[in-house]
Amino acid sequence: MPRAEPPVRRILGVRVHDVTMAEALERVAAFLAAGGPHQICTVNPEFVMHARRDPAFFQVLEQADLTVPDGGGLLGAGRVLGQPLRERVPGVELMEAIAARAAQEGWRLFLLGAAPGVAERAAETLRRRYPGLPVVGTFAGSPRPEEAPAILARLRQARPDVLFVAYGAPRQDLWIARYQPDLQIPVAMGVGGAFDFLAGVVPRAPRWMREAGLRQPWRWRRMRVLPRFVLDVLRARYGRGGTGARVG
Ligand code: UDP
Repeated sequence: MPRAEPPVRRILGVRVHDVTMAEALERVAAFLAAGGPHQICTVNPEFVMHARRDPAFFQVLEQADLTVPDGGGLLGAGRVLGQPLRERVPGVELMEAIAARAAQEGWRLFLLGAAPGVAERAAETLRRRYPGLPVVGTFAGSPRPEEAPAILARLRQARPDVLFVAYGAPRQDLWIARYQPDLQIPVAMGVGGAFDFLAGVVPRAPRWMREAGLRQPWRWRRMRVLPRFVLDVLRARYGRGGTGARVG
């Protein structure tokens, strides 16, 4: 039986579950046991800032079956806003944990996205690390709508239990929400740059940076929303009647 939904917190109005890594993995197992389509999103400050501007992405996070707090930035914001989040659940680590469990349980994985050849190499890394891991397909493809029929055909043929999609946020999450009603894959999760890390295309940020909620220096350009995120969190907490529960 799937256990109850974990507590929902609101970071600047955006939904995120208060789950630990172990609990997230149990949810995944429960989704697989229940069958039917599920979606997992890995929420970080960029997600929150984007969701506040983009109603379609906001809705995807509202409807996702599991929204994990991807990093320290979310936990810090949660503390300030009285929305406690117990543990960081980084997307790439959840993906690794799912792969480890998949090797034991026989869950069938499909890796979709990233540059040509990267998903294959990411799959090789996972297979080496978790012998017997059933990877039933890898494909770069693209999130362009005209490619969807071919991708859907591949997925229907491969019949994965778990689909990882690496098209970057929010595209990957919008893509999953758009096609899951057709696909009915028990677990589909957007994983951003995770295939690049696993394939060794880019190293992960050093541990101290990850713990500080930071990522690779070369991504800082895209992380320019961070100061704004911090400012909005402080404003929501200390500004005019802010509760942190408002949108927009
Ligand atoms: N990507 C892709 N197709 C696209 C856009 C992006 O396959 O049209 C891939 C890209 O190669 C990378 C991942 O999506 O592997 C995006 O990773 P990024 O680190 O930009 O995403 P984030 O972690 O910020 O969501």
